[in-house]
Amino acid sequence: MVYLVGAGPGDKDYITVKGLRLIEKCDVIIYDRLANMELLTYTKASCEKIYVGKQNGYHTMNQEAINKILVEQGKENKLTVRLKGGDPFVFGRGGEEILALEDQGIPYEVVSGVTSAISVPASAGIPLTHRKLSQSIHIITGHTATSKNQLTQDYEHLAKVEGTLVFLMGLSNIEKITEQLIKYGKNPCTPAAVVSKGTTNAQISVRASLEKIGQIVREKNLQAPAIIIVGEVAALNFTCTRLEEKRKLRVGVTGTQSFVNRCTAMLQENNITSLDMGFMVVKETGQETWQQVFETLPLSTWLAFTSANGVRLFFAECERRRFDRRELAHVKLAVIGSGTREALENNGIYPDYCPNVYTAEELAKGLCGQLSSEDRVLMPRAVKGSKMVNEIFAGEQKVLYDIPTYDVVYDREKWERKREEMRGLDCLVFGSTSGVEGFFQMAGEKEIQQLSNMRIIAIGPVTREALQKRGVEHVEIGEQCCIESLVKLIVR
Ligand code: SAH
Repeated sequence: MVYLVGAGPGDKDYITVKGLRLIEKCDVIIYDRLANMELLTYTKASCEKIYVGKQNGYHTMNQEAINKILVEQGKENKLTVRLKGGDPFVFGRGGEEILALEDQGIPYEVVSGVTSAISVPASAGIPLTHRKLSQSIHIITGHTATSKNQLTQDYEHLAKVEGTLVFLMGLSNIEKITEQLIKYGKNPCTPAAVVSKGTTNAQISVRASLEKIGQIVREKNLQAPAIIIVGEVAALNFTCTRLEEKRKLRVGVTGTQSFVNRCTAMLQENNITSLDMGFMVVKETGQETWQQVFETLPLSTWLAFTSANGVRLFFAECERRRFDRRELAHVKLAVIGSGTREALENNGIYPDYCPNVYTAEELAKGLCGQLSSEDRVLMPRAVKGSKMVNEIFAGEQKVLYDIPTYDVVYDREKWERKREEMRGLDCLVFGSTSGVEGFFQMAGEKEIQQLSNMRIIAIGPVTREALQKRGVEHVEIGEQCCIESLVKLIVR
């Protein structure tokens, strides 16, 4: 079965619930440049990812070749997602792909998406219809398809249309489009707007009269993808200025994906523009270590977690093994801080101990203070976990089963996709010492230099120290080692 899934305009969160469920389940995903690549991180590990992108003017793959791949995958009887920017049926050539599938008798379904034609103007505060101003919307391709480089539309007719004109793929022809509209009678003073990279952190919008907009867009060097809006509504700006001020603050977040997801979500709730700079992937160390964990569990009296990832992986493994939670009844539970506590509580288990200061050192010290000589602590955690914990346990002569269940590795491909966006950040958040290590492993001189022009925020003192060791001195930390404190610090 092949699903043509609309990915939405740019911001990955515009994916529909139906689309996301398919992405999570599919065996093959076929995508191009217009869909937000971060959506690929929701696929399962075994999912095959096939890139069929084209860039403006430079076709890496033509439509026939894409159709051929779709048909091949469809025939394999795999659950295949063809991810398309915006909505598959709005200038998305979805129809052509479907004809190719039909031709071969391959079953398919279209999962509509949020089209950029409507959502991108909205993200710039432009409503395409508004009482008394505009009663219709006309979505037009601004692409030239004729050999003589002529616009293909009937501009004599378009110039007379009263409603809002929305041009897709029109940026490179903006001068021609506006000239033609004016030539056939549209008032040169008609409001117009261009929105580039709508709904993403790089969104820029420009408003001007029909007569002037082309020139201004060139002066400001607006880049594709962009949408041109012509009509009275283009002069409106329904964006709350108070929120706009906060949104101008651009904050990048590094760390493991679960940290980045939680942190960016909370920043967004606070109307701060946030950028996912999570280059770290959590990799389980394998069945052998899980075997060790579950063999050690009956001997232990405490189970301690030092990260939300540790908790998440432990319970995922419980599921795989059909491990009955009642077998945890004999152990007490300790967590390092509020995020880890939340992860545990999501599993219906409430910790017996959490230090007041959320660091591995405090957890080790505090926990040792509670232990008798009979107690034995099982700690499934990261390979690169703090060695200070082992030292404290040894010093206190307490038993610690320190079992590394996961390692954190770096995703270079994602780094390459994101490094451009680092420019213009106001603030960069580091969620862990491994995040710091990862950053410095991948960053070039240019990116390291950029750090001096931004606020640098670390989750806690250990991470701050790791940064300072790397020569980054101006590091701020929140009151507590938790995301809430970080966000409070940024807002302040
Ligand atoms: N099927 C897509 C449109 C594909 S045509 C949809 O429904 O959105 C590609 C054009 O869409 C681009 O040339 C541009 O005009 C527009 N577009 C797509 N994403 C955009 C974005 N984030 N910001 C501005 N324009 C965008």
